[in-house]
Amino acid sequence: MIYLDYQATTPVAPEVADTMQPWISGKFANPHSPSRWGREAAAAIEVARKQASEAIDLEGGSLAFTGSATEAINWAIKGTLEKAPKGRNRIVTVATEHAAVLDTCEWLEARGCDVTRLPVGPDGLLDLADVKAALDEKVALVAVMLVNNEIGVVQPVGEIAAAAHEVGALMLCDAVQGLGRVGIPEGPDLVAASAHKIHGPKGIGALWMRQGAEPAPLIHGGGQEQGIRSGTLSPALCVGFGAAAKLGQERRELDHAHLEQLWNAARAELGSGWTMNGSVEHRYHGNLNIRREGVDSARLISDLRDIAFSLGSACASGSGRPSHVLRSIGLTDREARSAIRLGFGRYTSEEELVSAVRRIDAAAHAQQGLAA
Ligand code: PLP
Repeated sequence: MIYLDYQATTPVAPEVADTMQPWISGKFANPHSPSRWGREAAAAIEVARKQASEAIDLEGGSLAFTGSATEAINWAIKGTLEKAPKGRNRIVTVATEHAAVLDTCEWLEARGCDVTRLPVGPDGLLDLADVKAALDEKVALVAVMLVNNEIGVVQPVGEIAAAAHEVGALMLCDAVQGLGRVGIPEGPDLVAASAHKIHGPKGIGALWMRQGAEPAPLIHGGGQEQGIRSGTLSPALCVGFGAAAKLGQERRELDHAHLEQLWNAARAELGSGWTMNGSVEHRYHGNLNIRREGVDSARLISDLRDIAFSLGSACASGSGRPSHVLRSIGLTDREARSAIRLGFGRYTSEEELVSAVRRIDAAAHAQQGLAA
């Protein structure tokens, strides 16, 4: 199989699996227990916390581990609104956010919050003037992702955070697809991340919180994670997250150079007739979201079962609904249904990527030939 679905999840790095192994098989102590073994596990978690924080690389905050980025996002949004002063009950977000943000906002909207979903341009980018125009003293939180999971465009998160602060609002950045790949600019008060998108294990995320911006707890219980996120931590998952974050830092330039090579090779191999979805300029180069007039992308996927790629997004793929992101950049249903997302990275070879692109191109041509 040729794996081209890096936005859905990334392969676990062998170094990460090795680091996790002892914590899966032998070292089973509860990291919150006072025994020597418990303290050893707690110390390993603190090393991992530092490694994950260093990858986020923002000053003046702390990081709590969560069960996923989805949990971190739910916590950040619900907990911020819970703690906001009376009268501050507005959230400003973007139509192209991940469902973790959009569905949480919808849930709060049904409970009396006022939610503004900003549109994006045909390039998938926010207009800063629209952000500023949407802000007032009633806004508690502005939630904008760094790198879009479907089309890979990079939003101006630093400027948006500055605008949010001018009206006294906090800013949440969903950095799940950007961590370790695109620097997180100074500004956000809350940052959500996920280990499985950076060659770490599934089932663990993190919320970085600027000091003073910690949301009210979402999960109550034993008071772990500085009393604000209860639940026994998994040392194996935490050390896996830490090892993946550290490895990403160490390999940053190497990974970047490899990615540029892949990006150029894939684009050179694509025949004419394909259009890129979203900005070409402000984009993460491990995401090639493209469409071709008249192609049925679901059929393309079933025609090429030994290549793992996606229809816009993993979540939208299962639902049969055209992607909300592709609709937001102005595509018709038909255009959205002709889009595919190729996601690649550290463990993709140029040879396999080029061969996959060649076969996808040929299968698209064949479809059009049959349709003609
Ligand atoms: N945000 C973005 C941009 C994502 O791509 C994802 C995962 O697809 C999430 C949030 C949710 O992450 P997790 O799988 O850790 O819940």
